[in-house]
Amino acid sequence: MTETLPCWNLTDLYPSTDSPCIEADKQKLREEILQFVKDYRGQVTALNVAGLAEAITRYESLQDILGKISSYGDLIFSTHSTIPEIVTVYQNISEFVSEQSSALTFFVLEVNQITAEQMESACVAHAALSHYAPWLRDVRAFKPYQLDVLLEQLLVEKSITSEAAWIRLYEDISNRMIVRVGDEQLTLAETLDLFSQPDAGKREAAAFALSEALTDRLDQFTLIFNTIIKDKSIEDQWRGFGRPVSSRNLANLIEDEIVDTLAATVTQHFSVLSERYYRLKARMMGKEKLEYWDRNAPLPDDEDSPIAWEEAKRIVLESYQQFSPEMARIAETFFTHEWIDASVKMGKTAGAFSHPTVPSVHPYILMNYQGKVRDVMTLAHELGHGVHQVLAAHQGTLMADTPLTLAETASVFGEQLTFQYLLSHAPSPAAKRRLIAGKIEDMLNTVVRQIAFYNFETALHHDRNNGELSAEAISKHWMKTQAESFGDAIRLDKSYHVFWTYISHFFHTPFYVYAYAFGDCLVNSLYAIYEEEKKQGRAADFEEKYLEMLRSGGRHRHKELLAPFGIDIAQADFWQKGLHHLSVLIDELEQDIL
Ligand SMILES: [Zn+2]
Repeated sequence: MTETLPCWNLTDLYPSTDSPCIEADKQKLREEILQFVKDYRGQVTALNVAGLAEAITRYESLQDILGKISSYGDLIFSTHSTIPEIVTVYQNISEFVSEQSSALTFFVLEVNQITAEQMESACVAHAALSHYAPWLRDVRAFKPYQLDVLLEQLLVEKSITSEAAWIRLYEDISNRMIVRVGDEQLTLAETLDLFSQPDAGKREAAAFALSEALTDRLDQFTLIFNTIIKDKSIEDQWRGFGRPVSSRNLANLIEDEIVDTLAATVTQHFSVLSERYYRLKARMMGKEKLEYWDRNAPLPDDEDSPIAWEEAKRIVLESYQQFSPEMARIAETFFTHEWIDASVKMGKTAGAFSHPTVPSVHPYILMNYQGKVRDVMTLAHELGHGVHQVLAAHQGTLMADTPLTLAETASVFGEQLTFQYLLSHAPSPAAKRRLIAGKIEDMLNTVVRQIAFYNFETALHHDRNNGELSAEAISKHWMKTQAESFGDAIRLDKSYHVFWTYISHFFHTPFYVYAYAFGDCLVNSLYAIYEEEKKQGRAADFEEKYLEMLRSGGRHRHKELLAPFGIDIAQADFWQKGLHHLSVLIDELEQDIL
C-alpha cells in the first residue's frame, strides 16, 4: 500500500520533545510532591474526614500530571524507538516518573492503615470522600500484599533498572530487528503481515526468515525472559502471592477461580473449535494438513483488494453509527483531531493499542495499517477502547481505568459491530463465507490462541521456580502448548520453536493474554443479548445500558457492572455459552462447504 496514512499529533500533551512545558511540569511536580509528602507523610491515619478527602483530591491531581508526562514518553518512544535523542527523552521521563511515584507510595499504604470500619463510616458521612469509595475499595484489595513503605519505595525506584530496563532492552532488540525475506529487508510488523499473503511461497519464506532472525537473537531473548520471570517471582514471594497468575488477577480485580474456569473450559474445547476449523480450512485450501504459516492465509477465492484508509474509516464509523450515534460521534473525533497513528515504519512498535493517557487530555491510538479486513477490525477494536476511555474520563485519574478484562469488552464489542456491518453488506455468498471464516480465525486467535499462550506462561513461570530455563526448555513448553491447541490440523515445523520470542505480552505484562479470551466470550454473550433486545424493539434500552457501563469506568466490579444485562460470569457454564457462538459459526461454515 502506498497511500499516506495518518500520524498522530501529540501537541495536546506537549508541543515538542524539547518544549519548556515539560520542564515546567516537572518542576511543578517536584515542588508539589515535596509539599504533599511534608503535609501527609506519617499523618494520614490522623486526618479527619474532610482532610482525607482533600488529600485524595491532591493525590489525584498529582497522578494526573505524572500520567501526562509518562504517557508522552511512552507515545514518542512507541513510534521512534530507534532515534537516540527520542530514546534519551523517554528514558529521562521514565526515571523522573519513577522517582516521583516512589515519593508518593507512602500515601496508599497509609490510607490502608485506616480500618475498614472507620473508612466505611467516613465514606457514609462525607460526600467528597464517598465519591472516592470505589478507589478506596480497590486500593484496599492490595492491602494483604503490601510491604513496608521503605520497601515499596525501593521497589518503585529499582523497577527502572530491573523490570523496566529488561522490557526496554527487549523492545530495543525487537524494534531494530531486520528480517531478510528474499532480497527484502523488513520490520517485524511487515514480516508478520506476509503470513496473510495469498502466495504460499511468500508465507513460507517469511516463516523461515523470521525464524532465522529470532534464532539469531534467541540467547538474548532467553536471558531477558528468564530475568523478567525471576524478577516477578521474587516480588511475588515478598508480597505473599500464592501463584504466579495471582498478582495479575488481583490487578484485574478478578478471582483466581474465575480465570481457572475460563482457561480450563477453553482448553477442553481446543479440538472442537480450533482443530475442527483448521481441518476445514485445509480442505478449503486443497491440503491434507495446514503448515503453520498457512494459519492466517487468505482463502483461495479471496480477491485481496486492499481497503483504503478512508474506506476503513467509513466502515467503522458507519457500523458504530448503526448501534449508537454517540459512539460514532466520539470515534470520529479520533480522525478529525489527529489522535491516530496508522503508518508503518522502522522503529515503530508492531501491533496496536489505544493509550488512555490521562482524563485531562484524551486517548491516542497506534496501529500499523496495511489494508486488510483484519486491519479494519483492528481499527474497530482500538476505537472501541478509545470511545470507552473518552466516556470514562469524567471518573477522574483514580477511577477512569477499567480492569484489563473489562477493558477488552468494549474493544471486542466494537469489532463485533463492524463484523456484523460487513456481513450485512457482503456483495456475494463467497464474500460472506470469507468474512465468516475471517471472524472465526480472529476469534480463534483471541480465544484459543491466547489461552494456549496462557497455558505456556503458566507452565514456564512454574518451572522457572526450579532454576534458569534453557532456550530448549522454553521451546519445548511452547511447542507442546501450541500443538495442543491446534491438534492434528496444523503441522508445526521445527522452525516454529522460537516463535514465542516475538509475543511481547510475555515480556511486558505476564498473564495479560487471558483478558482477550475473557473479553471475547463476554462480548459473545452481550451481543446475543443485544440481538434479542433488538428483536423485541428494545435496542435503545440496550444502547443506554451499554454506554452507561462504559461511562462508569472503574467504579464497579464485574458483578455490579454486568448485573443490568443479567450476566453472571461466576456461573460455571457462562464461558461455555460464550464459546457456543464460535461453534455455531464453524457449523455454519461446515454446512456451506461440505
Ligand atoms: Zn484491546
